[in-house]
Formats: sequence, C-alpha cells, structure tokens
Amino acid sequence: MKVIVVGAGILGASVARSLAMAGERVHLLDQWGPGTGTTATTFAWVNANRKLDPDYFRLNVAGMEEHAKLAHELGGPQAYFPTGSVHCADSRNESWLVSSVERLRSLDYPAHWVEREDAVRIAGDIRIPDSITAMAHFPNEGYVLPERLLSNLLADARRHGAEISVGEVVAVHDDPGGSRVVLAGGETRTADRVVLATGRWTDDLATRSGLDIPMMTDIRRGSPIVGLLGYVTSPRVDLRCVVHTPSLNLRPAAHGRTVVQALNLNSGVDPKAPLSADCEIARAIVQRFSRLMTERNPSPEIEPRVAIRSMPADGQTIAGYASERSRVYCLVTHSGITLAPLLGRLAAAEIVNDHTQDLLQAFRPTRFAGVRRSELNITRATRLGEQ
Ligand SMILES: Cc1cc2nc3c(=O)[nH]c(=O)nc-3n(C[C@H](O)[C@H](O)[C@H](O)COP(=O)(O)OP(=O)(O)OC[C@H]3O[C@@H](n4cnc5c(N)ncnc54)[C@H](O)[C@@H]3O)c2cc1C
Repeated sequence: MKVIVVGAGILGASVARSLAMAGERVHLLDQWGPGTGTTATTFAWVNANRKLDPDYFRLNVAGMEEHAKLAHELGGPQAYFPTGSVHCADSRNESWLVSSVERLRSLDYPAHWVEREDAVRIAGDIRIPDSITAMAHFPNEGYVLPERLLSNLLADARRHGAEISVGEVVAVHDDPGGSRVVLAGGETRTADRVVLATGRWTDDLATRSGLDIPMMTDIRRGSPIVGLLGYVTSPRVDLRCVVHTPSLNLRPAAHGRTVVQALNLNSGVDPKAPLSADCEIARAIVQRFSRLMTERNPSPEIEPRVAIRSMPADGQTIAGYASERSRVYCLVTHSGITLAPLLGRLAAAEIVNDHTQDLLQAFRPTRFAGVRRSELNITRATRLGEQ
C-alpha cells in the first residue's frame, strides 16, 4: 500500500515510521521541512497529570508507557528521560495540588508528597521559595528532547524505506478508488491512503479538501492556543527533571539550556509582535528563573519563542478516518509529545490491517459530525501543571 503522510512534526514522523516498519511505501511531506511546526516549540513533558476525561487519561498513560518501550527500540542519542516531575504549590495552589494528587492516586497513577530536601534531591539545582507549602513527586513522568526524538524517528523511518521531502499540500481529494494530494506547484500524487498530521494547520487544509476537522484557530493575544517558551542558556544549572512552580515551569533541554514557561504570562503574548530577549515578558521570565536558581547561576540569557498549540476544538485527540468511507486518516492532538509514539503505532495498525484500536475509539473525527462549532467545549491549558 502507498501512504502519503502530510506533516513531518512528531506525529507525522511517528506514524510514517510505524507504517514504513510495517512494509508500506511511505512518502512523508512537509511544507517547510521536518520539525518546523509546534514540535519545535513545546514544553515536552510526558505525562497524564491533568487529563481529566477517563478515555483521554487512559490514552495518555498508555502514551507514557509507549515512550519507555520506544526508547529500547529506537537508535540515536537519548531523547526520552523518565526522570519524574516535581510540583511545588503555594497557599493559593495547595488545595488544587492536593486534589490532583488524591485523584491520581485513586487512579493508581504514582504520586507522592515530598519534603523540601527530597524535592531538591530529585529536581537538582533549584531554590524552592519559602512561599512553597506543598511538594508532590510524580515518578512515572518524564520529558523528551523533541528535536532529538524527531530526528531519531525520521532516521528510523528512512531506514525502513520512507521517502521524506519538502512539499506543501494545498488539497487532498478523497476519491472512492484512492486518494490524491495536490501540491502547491500543481503536481498531483496518488496514494491508497493519506494521513493528515498537519498539526495546527489541519482545520484549514481539511476545509480546503471538503473535510470537517474543527480546531482552535484563533491565533491572537489571549487565545488559549498562544503560549510562550523561554530557552534559557544556563550551562551551570543542574536541573534533573520537569519542575512546576507557581511562577515558572522548567525542563532540561540540550546544549546547556533550560526550557521555561510562565503560564500566567501567556495571556499577554501578542503572536504578531516581534519578541526579543529584552521584551517585558522575557525579562519577567528571566527574573523568575533567577529567583529559582542558586547563586552559582548569574545572568542567564533567554531566547523567547511564541508557541502555538495544535488544539482540536474540544481539546481532545483526533485519530481516525474523516468519515466511514474515507481514505484520509486524521491524526491531530494537543499533548502530542506524550502521545506521538503511541498514536503513530496505533494509527499505523488501523491503516495497515484495518484493526480497530480500542484506545482510539473515543477519539474519532466523526464525533464532530452535525455539531456546531459554537457548541464545542474548549479547554484552557493555562494553570499550573496543565499541558
Ligand atoms: C507551549 C506548548 C507547550 C506544550 N507542552 C506539551 C507538553 O508538555 N507535553 C506534551 O505532550 N505536549 C505538549 N505540547 C503539545 C505538543 O507540542 C504538540 O501536540 C505536538 O508538537 C504536535 O505535533 P504535530 O506533529 O501534530 O504538529 P506540528 O509539529 O505542528 O507538525 C505539523 C507539520 O505539518 C506541516 N504542515 C502543515 N500544513 C501542511 C501542508 N498543507 N502541507 C505540508 N505540510 C504541512 C507543518 O509544516 C508542520 O511541520 C505543547 C505545545 C505548546 C505550544
């Protein structure tokens, strides 16, 4: 079978690899090249921490387990770090953290209260402010280095025969005998199946192709899909896991960097305005970062990046054919770093063998059929620990 995968972010790369491993002829296309979408600007915390919907929680827990399995199979430099995470709450957030820990424990999701010294031992070189009143450790969580994971997945996909190239798809034709994609230059390519893994651009491409995949597309100041990440150069920081504090979330990154985000500053981010290390938000983030570090880490440099979420309109994963007779398989999600290896494998199994995957049943795109967009419930990932 010939499969065209449109979009070479973490989802497209994962499904392309799984399809190629199954022996299919795979062509992975990206308008600007691999890893140029949301996968380049993500906090990349692997977790099921605030996934309140039971099906979505189950999917994310399975996503966490899949990372561990994949790490054993996949070559290349280490990309997945099962380090756990530490959450620190102050008096304003404490009851929220307490209810989270209780809820997660009742679901057999490992969660422990820790003392200040334990938190520092687990998290590394951070100074926990005196205002912190409760600390929890989630030992099964972790993080990935997204550019490394992407590059390892692509290398493995190529090894299994996948062709990867640059090309913008302007429309997909979902014909009964097969599918066709039309490229920006007018060239047409045919395939037995097409996978749309086009992240935040999916709504637009789907509409142009006569399909209905509702996403949040409102990219403006104050929109829940607009975020900001700071890439802080801090070679002397010994951060050992994902850390959430009321002022800043932190995760280790490659090349002596730390990725940070201040969720409560997101609403001030204007996605159209140029960002510099000197802008107000970047300076506020550096200040918060410095307060959390020990004296050994003076004057960190920051590269701020606007980060746009790929968010289906109801906040949950979309995985499946656009309609019962369709040959276009849609794969779009927030929490795509946690979910990509799992979704890639399950989607490939559905495409190759027509094996319906139980974990994906609640996430079919057909759930939107007949629902007005204004009726959809939008989630907001703007609180401590919500990604
Ligand atoms: C601030 C922020 C924090 C996040 N934190 C986390 C987290 O902690 N944990 C977690 O699990 N997830 C997190 N996420 C979500 C996660 O990063 C995304 O879900 C994931 O990266 C999406 O990957 P993707 O492959 O679907 O999309 P993308 O990486 O955007 O890839 C889509 C690709 O499709 C290509 N494309 C689009 N249209 C076309 C076209 N017409 N023709 C050809 N190519 C096309 C684009 O160029 C792009 O490369 C976060 C996201 C943000 C923004």
